[in-house]
Amino acid sequence: MDVREALSVISKEDLEILYALEKYSNRYEFVPLEVLEKSTRLPLHVLERSLYKLNSLKIIKRQSASFLGYRLTIVAYDVLAIVSLMKKGYLDKLGEKLGVGKESDVYLGITPSGKEVAVKFHRVGRTSFRHVARHRSYKLESSWLLQSKVSAQREFAALRELSSVGAKVPEPIARSRHVVVTELIKGAVELSEKPPLKDPLKAFQDVIETIDKAYNEVGIVHGDLSEYNVIVNPETSEAYVIDWPQYVERDHPRAKELLRRDVDYVVKFFRKTYSIPVETEEVYEAIVKR
Ligand code: ATP
Ligand code: MN
Ligand code: MN
Ligand code: MN
Repeated sequence: MDVREALSVISKEDLEILYALEKYSNRYEFVPLEVLEKSTRLPLHVLERSLYKLNSLKIIKRQSASFLGYRLTIVAYDVLAIVSLMKKGYLDKLGEKLGVGKESDVYLGITPSGKEVAVKFHRVGRTSFRHVARHRSYKLESSWLLQSKVSAQREFAALRELSSVGAKVPEPIARSRHVVVTELIKGAVELSEKPPLKDPLKAFQDVIETIDKAYNEVGIVHGDLSEYNVIVNPETSEAYVIDWPQYVERDHPRAKELLRRDVDYVVKFFRKTYSIPVETEEVYEAIVKR
């Protein structure tokens, strides 16, 4: 069950239960039935029917060992985030999946005015999560939920500062929980696909200018830059740097090492793929000496 399917089967009562489970998730590993009854004020038969449905669909998880209790799963957390973004008017619909990263799912979103946006679900630790899926423990899952939220918060904050200095990144629009909504870069493809570019030097300069602004004007280093985290519009040769949650502050002990590595990957890629005659050292020095 993914978030779009879940959204299509969730009723108002189901949603009330998800809110209650989230509200009490700090206090209980599994929220007892009595607590849900008091908190949602739903008639017991309605509550039980909803719980049964949500549990069969694996949107929530039941434990019946010592007492009957329930908790959220990741797809429930996805639903809560999307419903919140919809209520606040940032989203009307969730469309097709645009990309799957190691640590995210990116969907197309449609706003109430019909504009297309990008909706990124942060999924920290997903690879290790799959690995242990059979014995997934609550402690691990809840810490991953928290880390995914922190990751979204970091990316949203970085994008806001980068946008405000005019860096070429997707403009941030809204965040809820572990989900970030940004401007959709239309017609863009990953630079790793090596699209033919009319003006590859322009794309290169866009990326370097963003690294420079990030370092000198915002005070951060991307830290995971490569052709996989640059998207480029082949028509205009405009390039955008995406995927910022792992950024480090300029005064981090490894900042300069990461900056040099980011520059090196970009320089090497443009040299090899688009025959742009540039050297890592001169580009790096120009940034740190600005
Ligand atoms: P990684 O595997 O590198 O960690 P990730 O999971 O952190 O990736 P992103 O790199 O942010 O996720 O995004 C994954 C893919 O989704 C991108 O390569 C791109 O194709 C697409 N994408 C992300 N944001 C946008 C956007 N604003 N506009 C258009 N496409 C986007
Ligand atoms: Mn990727
Ligand atoms: Mn990425
Ligand atoms: Mn990433």
